[in-house]
Amino acid sequence: MKCLRCSYCCIMLDVIIIKPEFVKENLILYKLPVGEAFMHKPSYEACPHLSFVDDMAVCKIHNYKWYTQTPCFKHDQISASPDDPCRMGEYLLKKNPDHWKEIKDKCISTSEVSS
Ligand code: SF4
Ligand code: SF4
Repeated sequence: MKCLRCSYCCIMLDVIIIKPEFVKENLILYKLPVGEAFMHKPSYEACPHLSFVDDMAVCKIHNYKWYTQTPCFKHDQISASPDDPCRMGEYLLKKNPDHWKEIKDKCISTSEVSS
């Protein structure tokens, strides 16, 4: 699945993420103490690892090698090939629903812009 960087899942879904204070270059995720190193990001709250470049969502931890071990990396939907665009993202980018846009705009205005 190809992420369209809409940010919906990073804001609107319940997700298990690594705590920001545990993030560093070299990690072996499965060796971290689950109860201490991970947290629940509730729905309707922007993930602390989310930032934006203009309107495009950028995950701050995406480029670490261990990102492939995270629940976020495993997130997928039924897709015919790994190159298919995210169906949820396609739908949401067309609809741009108000309940999500409000949180997203707030997040864009307060998030650190990274490249
Ligand atoms: S860790 Fe990254 S991909 Fe996962 S919810 Fe947070 S910003 Fe999104
Ligand atoms: S909903 Fe899909 S396109 Fe949007 S950020 Fe999540 S994975 Fe990417």
